[in-house]
Amino acid sequence: MSKKYCYLFTEGNANMRELLGGKGANLAEMTNIGLPVPQGFTITTEACTQYYEDGQKINDEIFAEIMEYIEKMEGITGKKFGDMENPLLVSVRSGARASMPGMMDTILNLGLNETVVDVLAKKSGNPRWAWDCYRRFIQMYSDVVMEVGKKYFEQLIDKMKEARGVTQDVELTAEDLKELAGQFKAEYKSKIGQDFPTDPKEQLMGAVKAVFRSWDNPRANVYRRDNDIPYSWGTAVNVQSMAFGNMGDDCGTGVAFTRNPATGEKKLFGEFLTNAQGEDVVAGVRTPMPIAEMAEKFPEAFAQFENVCKTLEDHYRDMQDMEFTVEHGKLYMLQTRNGKRTAQAALKIACDLVDEGMIDEKKAVAMVEPRTLDTLLHPQFDAVALKESKVMGKALGASPGAASGKAVFSAEDAKAWAQRGEKVILVRLETSPEDIEGMKAAQGILTVRGGMTSHAAVVARGMGKCCVSGCGDIKMDEENKKFELAGKTYCEGDWLSLDGSTGNIYDGAVPTVDATIGGEFGRIMGWADKYRRLEVRTNADTPADAKKARELGAQGIGLCRTEHMFFNDDRIQAIREMICSDTVEQREKALAKLEPMQQGDFEGIYEAMEGCPVTIRFLDPPLHEFVPTEEADIEAMARDMGKTVEEIKAVIAGLHEFNPMMGHRGCRLSVTFPEIAKMQTRAVIKAALNVQARHPEWDLVPEIMIPLVGELKEFAYVKGIVTEVADALIKEAGSSLKYKVGNMIEIPRAAMCADDIAPISDFFSFGSNDLTQLVFGFSRDDAGKFLDAYYDKKIYENDPFAKLDQHGVGRLISNAARWGRSTNPDLHLGICGEHGGDPSSVEFCHKIGLDYVSCSPFRVPIARLAAAQAAIKDA
Ligand code: PEP
Ligand code: MG
Repeated sequence: MSKKYCYLFTEGNANMRELLGGKGANLAEMTNIGLPVPQGFTITTEACTQYYEDGQKINDEIFAEIMEYIEKMEGITGKKFGDMENPLLVSVRSGARASMPGMMDTILNLGLNETVVDVLAKKSGNPRWAWDCYRRFIQMYSDVVMEVGKKYFEQLIDKMKEARGVTQDVELTAEDLKELAGQFKAEYKSKIGQDFPTDPKEQLMGAVKAVFRSWDNPRANVYRRDNDIPYSWGTAVNVQSMAFGNMGDDCGTGVAFTRNPATGEKKLFGEFLTNAQGEDVVAGVRTPMPIAEMAEKFPEAFAQFENVCKTLEDHYRDMQDMEFTVEHGKLYMLQTRNGKRTAQAALKIACDLVDEGMIDEKKAVAMVEPRTLDTLLHPQFDAVALKESKVMGKALGASPGAASGKAVFSAEDAKAWAQRGEKVILVRLETSPEDIEGMKAAQGILTVRGGMTSHAAVVARGMGKCCVSGCGDIKMDEENKKFELAGKTYCEGDWLSLDGSTGNIYDGAVPTVDATIGGEFGRIMGWADKYRRLEVRTNADTPADAKKARELGAQGIGLCRTEHMFFNDDRIQAIREMICSDTVEQREKALAKLEPMQQGDFEGIYEAMEGCPVTIRFLDPPLHEFVPTEEADIEAMARDMGKTVEEIKAVIAGLHEFNPMMGHRGCRLSVTFPEIAKMQTRAVIKAALNVQARHPEWDLVPEIMIPLVGELKEFAYVKGIVTEVADALIKEAGSSLKYKVGNMIEIPRAAMCADDIAPISDFFSFGSNDLTQLVFGFSRDDAGKFLDAYYDKKIYENDPFAKLDQHGVGRLISNAARWGRSTNPDLHLGICGEHGGDPSSVEFCHKIGLDYVSCSPFRVPIARLAAAQAAIKDA
């Protein structure tokens, strides 16, 4: 049976979003519940998909069906396209499953031509209105369908107003508008090289194609990637009979929300414009009146509208965002949808709806978008100021928040400037552990290279610091402390601003507003905790991060990256010494310096976590991140180690690796240098013994995690060292301390051999960063350079380092979890790569039965909410 590509509004309903898009489904639903909706039909998302499959063509079958539905629509409305008595005019609007700004705008008054406009003028006795509709149509069609810029038409309007000595559009007469329409058509012809189409059917097909085309425009593609909307969904097209808000002073148009979308306050919020069409409100051509004034000017329509608002909220049980028109005092509804809202408003609305008895707790949890919680935890740009700011570039939104500061190009400068009280943005080709202090001092970090799991991204997320990474458009000149972006040269001290959520880079200083957490946050989080099954842990390496994570609801630490504990200036030297040692004695000497530092840190972390589980991962320094590169650092190291600069340089040269990410790191270090594992075991166990003694009420069970395991015997070897040292220490202390030893699964071989490894492992933690890197076979630091081309060509839709590739990497994780449990039913399973804080990846972890996810502290609330939503969906 052939597919049905068109649905009258009377044939659809709210559950048909996938096919009819959000707008189409809601127009149908409003029709069903008896609201005044100008009738029409929706061309389905499947028609859009087919359009692309057919090489961007509307095939004969779909064309015929659209024509058939135009006829049906003509039958319903009693009007006809191009008719000399009663012509049909329609609006054409896009409507995807999820609302998507960045796609095609609306086209109004389609169906007009020189003949029809005369008919309308005569019939209505209102030629001004008829010509106003026509000039608007030419303008919108040219802009939206043919992509002739709006500005040319606006210039013509301005000229006309100047010539007539008026300032407002509404002051132009019918004659003026007629003349303008003529000028518009001439402009169209000069730009397009053809006459403006007169046949309404041809106009309609042009508009439908433009909507389909807009699904693939660059803005839509970026929006989809940022918002997890699959390309395969396609958009629907709504063809709706026009209601006119521009027929005189008893007409108008408005946009309104049933509650305040910024604060959540339960009060009608919106704007209304008399004698106008929809786009006037949005375009700001005239200043609209607050919706409350509509009550005075249009008491009947307003009363009707208030009723509609109540009906719609009761029906959808959520805040609605509506568009409507009043034609000669009569109300018409053009759109309703669950309104977009700030995170603050989302929490308040969800709680209020529960208190009003409209929804239950589960629904409240389900209706808050986890990702938006970011905005409650980090500073944000002032929304008004942001609108006026110039976007200079866009890269990866690696760590959320908003930051404004003066450009500096080295960590030292960042620190020095910050100490002088300056706000700075640290701009680097890429960051390394040497930059940590500078990153801390800066408001935000911008890098030219590196992806979502690059050093800069991971560390910035841990700090809760704004970071935009991988901006390949920057032409960097670090030496001369300047860079070029979008034709502008930024020198040291020049202001710029970063949005770590969208990845936008703005010129100059954009004011920020601080984060606010209200009481509703706690209520929603409490409900989320009640309904989720997944445990949420955090990735934290310092007592301060651990404390923050506890405040945000972390139930433990899933990953403490011990090498991160040596990022500070006063410590990095010690770990470099360890790395650059060429004898066991030297290494042990360096390790002896590290041990008390580690033990102290572990004690601090245990204290901060108040008895919750803590997984400490053994050293996993990709060596290239740690060896000194600056001459001064090399000299300092030579001094400390009693060697010559040349000797140190020779050691560094010896450490050079062609693929450091696949090099001498992870447990391979413990295999070559068992003394490292011994030192770390002593630090973990002694710290636990001390803290346990101080807090007998806690039941500490330290968890030691071995990274980058690929083979059972390799893990067995390192585990052997750990248990020997740990058991001796515990015995010596006369303690009954228990501990666990588990491994990360981040090498595909370990995943494939999970059933071998599981019997001797207490837990698996999936290191999805390295696992993604190795399953795809592209470097987590370099993939950003070519992934854009993959997005453009629709080969990949998302960055697999940010959103788990469920089909490939996810399948491996799911199988490994199953294989592991098959030989060790008690195996505790979690994930600690960056995906642990990504909502769709968290949902996947829930589905495949992991026990916990672990993510950076500021993403803990997001993971809690996402885990609850996954459980609620699953129930
Ligand atoms: C991982 O690889 O997923 C992981 C958590 O380890 P790291 O990012 O430190 O390599
Ligand atoms: Mg790893």
